[in-house]
Amino acid sequence: MKGIKEFAEGGEKVYYQQKILALANMLRNSKRTFALTGAGISTESGIPDFRSPGTGLWTKHDPIKVASVSALLRDPVTFYKVNLEHWINFTKARPNAAHYALARLERDGLLAGVITQNIDGLHLAAGSQKVWEVHGHLRTCHCLDCGESYSFDHLVSQYRAGTVPPICDRCRGVLRLDVVLFEDPMGEDFLHATRALTGCNLLLVIGSSLQVYPVASLPERTRQLVIINEGHTPWDLRANLVINGKAGQVMTDLLAALDRE
Ligand code: NAD
Ligand code: ZN
Repeated sequence: MKGIKEFAEGGEKVYYQQKILALANMLRNSKRTFALTGAGISTESGIPDFRSPGTGLWTKHDPIKVASVSALLRDPVTFYKVNLEHWINFTKARPNAAHYALARLERDGLLAGVITQNIDGLHLAAGSQKVWEVHGHLRTCHCLDCGESYSFDHLVSQYRAGTVPPICDRCRGVLRLDVVLFEDPMGEDFLHATRALTGCNLLLVIGSSLQVYPVASLPERTRQLVIINEGHTPWDLRANLVINGKAGQVMTDLLAALDRE
């Protein structure tokens, strides 16, 4: 005879499968669907997020203190020593099943694009074409004084050769990465992403705690909201569907459900 625990586990599995099927239906019936991703979609690629208990970067440093514009201007040496190794590791990561699943949904005509808070470039690496990187990326940097642009590799090779902070070849100004730091204004991609969401029927939020503004206000712009996340978010109660689980597994199960029908 089955015990209460086994019954409960069996019930949860059925409930999970029903949610996956419901999501597959929503996707098929939506004319304009976007994904909004956060650091949680990349944890399975080995990049720690900010807020997961125990492993999140937030538990080690206060990002507002170490990854802000004022921290860079006040003490660029410490800014680079604290942040650059993390960012170098981000660029070594490979996409996981969730990134690839979003690229496939776009190829199949089921997804209009991905709005990401991540700077790791993994959506582009997975083959997604329409990607708005609203917090910037790690491909380039520029001089704080003259604005001259350089590659990320140029900045890293200066750092590795002992030039900390890395500086501009032209005017010797300090270089900064093209990522949106705390206290920075949002970049152009945020404006474009906000506009693109006009007429959005369905927004899939994947791996974001939805606590960083103004991105956390984007779910206001969709008719239907689905949240795929391990932890809870302030939007859960307003979402049409919440699937608590690992992004890689949930997205793999979603593709399997779409393929079955
Ligand atoms: P966050 O750390 O605030 O939240 C991440 C959420 O993802 C958490 O709620 C957690 O429960 C969930 N999560 C963790 N692993 C998951 C998994 N495998 N599957 C499903 N959910 C999972 O992240 P945020 O909302 O993106 O905000 C943090 C800010 O940090 C962003 O602005 C982002 O730019 C920056 N950031 C980026 C990276 C990156 O580029 N990969 C990494 C760390 C932080
Ligand atoms: Zn310069």
